Amino acid sequence: MPRPRKCRRVGRPPAFVRFKPQGIPFRSLRKVTLSLDEFEAIRLADHEGLEHASAAERMNISRPTFTRLIETARRKLAQAIVEGAALVIEGGAVDVEGDFCRCPRCGGVREHRHGGHRERCGYCGTEHECNDTKPITEEERS
Ligand SMILES: [Zn+2]
Ligand SMILES: [Zn+2]
Repeated sequence: MPRPRKCRRVGRPPAFVRFKPQGIPFRSLRKVTLSLDEFEAIRLADHEGLEHASAAERMNISRPTFTRLIETARRKLAQAIVEGAALVIEGGAVDVEGDFCRCPRCGGVREHRHGGHRERCGYCGTEHECNDTKPITEEERS
């Protein structure tokens, strides 16, 4: 195990934790692993469009740390799509905030809607029991 360090705040987990070129089995592909804090950096700066300073504050890290984080994250994303590798999102010393449901069929993670036992998955359409589980585990199915 890596030595403990300060937890970085992650406001939303990835919808899916594995991406790969179509038609090639996952096991045959080279893997690029993006940690959850690297994912969060991309989400805040490139998807939400936040300035680095605000994004750093949201993650509870310094601005130089954020800048290093997003540079690494972008390099990895570029590697995966340019070199045709599979992208795996996992790991990192993070606290994931909020309530999320994971679809048992496709593994898609969405924000939990309060007030019901069942939810419909927004990715594959499957209706499933609501599960309040933490969305990320070390053991992901391949
Ligand atoms: Zn739910
Ligand atoms: Zn689904």
